[in-house]
Amino acid sequence: MLTLYNTLSRKKEEFHPIHKDHVGMYTCGPTVYFFAHIGNLRTYVFEDILKRVLLYNNFKVKHVMNITDVGHLTSDADEGEDKMLKGAKREGKTVWEIAKFYEEAFMEDMKKLNILMPDIKCKATDHIPEMIELIKRLEKNGMTYIADGNVYYDIMKFPHYGVLARLNLEDLQAGARIEVDQSKKNPHDFVLWFTKSKFENQEMKWESPWSVGYPGWHIECSAMSMKYLGEHFDIHCGGIDHIPVHHTNEIAQSEGATGHKWVNFWLHGEFLIMDKGKMSKSSGEFLTISVLQEKGYDPLDYRYLCLNTHYKTPLAFSLESLDAARSAFQGLKNKIIEFQKNKLIESSHTHDSASGDSGTHNIQLMQKYKADFIEAIDDDLNVPKALGIMWTLIRDKDLLDSEKLHLIIDFDKVFGLDLNNVVEKIIDVPIEIQKLVDERQEARKKKDFKRSDELRD
Ligand code: AMP
Ligand code: ZN
Repeated sequence: MLTLYNTLSRKKEEFHPIHKDHVGMYTCGPTVYFFAHIGNLRTYVFEDILKRVLLYNNFKVKHVMNITDVGHLTSDADEGEDKMLKGAKREGKTVWEIAKFYEEAFMEDMKKLNILMPDIKCKATDHIPEMIELIKRLEKNGMTYIADGNVYYDIMKFPHYGVLARLNLEDLQAGARIEVDQSKKNPHDFVLWFTKSKFENQEMKWESPWSVGYPGWHIECSAMSMKYLGEHFDIHCGGIDHIPVHHTNEIAQSEGATGHKWVNFWLHGEFLIMDKGKMSKSSGEFLTISVLQEKGYDPLDYRYLCLNTHYKTPLAFSLESLDAARSAFQGLKNKIIEFQKNKLIESSHTHDSASGDSGTHNIQLMQKYKADFIEAIDDDLNVPKALGIMWTLIRDKDLLDSEKLHLIIDFDKVFGLDLNNVVEKIIDVPIEIQKLVDERQEARKKKDFKRSDELRD
């Protein structure tokens, strides 16, 4: 039974999809104004593990991820600079060029980390009509107001505002006194549509019922997730920083429009932290996958490091910890090469015993490892424990190397360390050897063990 920690209830809950074995999953994607840092990528690795665990449990997953290419200010609320404009200014390019370049760079990073691609990848700028429709629905429901040219969401009209982050509405009202944006009735009200641009030279502008402008950041996720997954779906995730503002506002928008529950499970990944605190794009010092490669690491060394820490625990990153991950991962690859080499030889040794007691014993032992593995990953994605189970299996003297290999390759459907590729690389067998192997297999089929042993020798 798969259990997942739901931020909404602050508890582990049994996971059951709304529609039989089909899971709808939405993950908040990157704002494409700069390279993703390894902190961002930790969140995408966590979401990839979640998706792989769902697939391992035989669910069919429809995964939607957005690309934010408009509207995200440097604070997650309505303050600061426009991130896309900031990127354009920095590089002397248009916002469209910036968006295209960094979206491609992000997809490259995803590939390097062996992250499964979303089924639907959707850009905010391709969904302006859907956002406008949603804002119109909210307006019709009386949940918006216009002030100083912008359309705001009025959080006091939504009684459940802040449930995800456990915010207290009375406190939120009291906070109004210290608000800087005089147009807002409450500091937590947020912009749905900017008509009066806060920024000069805003290139991205669209016609709307409230005149020319552009959307606030949060509305894109509500509009696109409901377009592709329906008005009630299973899972929504992101990093923990999204709980108090972005996801809180997404819930207010979606449920404020439909009048019913929107998402069943909310999962949030903890941050990657550096010596000097959390890694962020604005702090100026951050590591990307390309930088790690320049330092001689394989991107999958970093993935292995991520697997070693549960997604709900902060990951304290250092190059020393990455070195340790790299050598453990190298050790694993060496074992796979060794197991693969032994596999051919081994199969001939087993033909006598496989039908006897030790064969049954091994099958039971393999089933036990598989059951332990499933128990770990189904317990809120306990991948560090699952890795430990794999290492115990590697050292188990009772199992044949071929059996170990079989299980490891199966577990890698969840780990995503591309271990199959390690196997493929080493079984580049010369043709004449392959002929002997085929001939030997024929001999074994005919139970001609004498000939089979000769061929092996
Ligand atoms: P952004 O591109 O800023 O919207 O962030 C993309 C994703 O990375 C979001 O899900 C964030 O929650 C997540 N994120 C941002 N900083 C970190 C960090 N230091 N560690 C882990 N995840 C992060
Ligand atoms: Zn989002």
